[in-house]
Amino acid sequence: METVRFDELNLDERILRAVTDMGFEAASPIQAQSIPVQAEGLDMIGQAQTGTGKTAAYTLPLLNKLLIEGNPDNVVKSLIIVPTRELAQQIDQQFQGFSYYAPLSTTVVYGGGDGKGWDIQKNGMLNGADVVIATPGRMIAHLQNSGVDLSHVEYLILDEADRMLDMGFSDDIMKIISYMPAERQTIMFSATLPPKIRELAKTILRNPAEVNIAISKPNEAID
Ligand code: AMP
Repeated sequence: METVRFDELNLDERILRAVTDMGFEAASPIQAQSIPVQAEGLDMIGQAQTGTGKTAAYTLPLLNKLLIEGNPDNVVKSLIIVPTRELAQQIDQQFQGFSYYAPLSTTVVYGGGDGKGWDIQKNGMLNGADVVIATPGRMIAHLQNSGVDLSHVEYLILDEADRMLDMGFSDDIMKIISYMPAERQTIMFSATLPPKIRELAKTILRNPAEVNIAISKPNEAID
């Protein structure tokens, strides 16, 4: 596959500048294949492991959409659900880098910590964070106790979906989704695609495109 440059991916100039600052030169295969699909507004399931650049593969197109649309009503517009606190923190760090020239508000939601952390998370969401990055259990706790409103979420991303199912988060994920509008774009990334992941995809995605970096012909990889 030919090398794809980031400036070929229709990203805002401010994002491109930040990507360059971070030392990224060419898009990785999962980025080259999945960013255009997400930009089109399609639901998507992407098979990619850690180390492939999968985080940027979904944060860059999300950031681009949020920049274009803005958030005049100060609502929670996007939610990224991940299995662990460490992953949530890593994703937030990437967001901070990519949005250096185009700031947007993120709130990271995970358990542990003290009451202060709870209040910061709660206020971040009540004030309408552009992006909420959350682990499932803690998100449920906020939905039940903090009056957090997910009814305006337009973009839902599940990262490391297979790991979340292995950790027993299936019911929590479905519960969180029940607070969101059916009309939304949903993106799922998973290192593996066993039958239970395909079942989950069938339940929460609509006619998803599939991007699999083991397949090097993008036209065939996109459904
Ligand atoms: P990930 O697979 O998302 O965990 O990313 C693995 C690492 O690769 C992270 O440290 C990223 O900052 C870095 N990375 C992601 N995409 C690129 C790229 N296109 N060029 C160089 N480094 C990248």
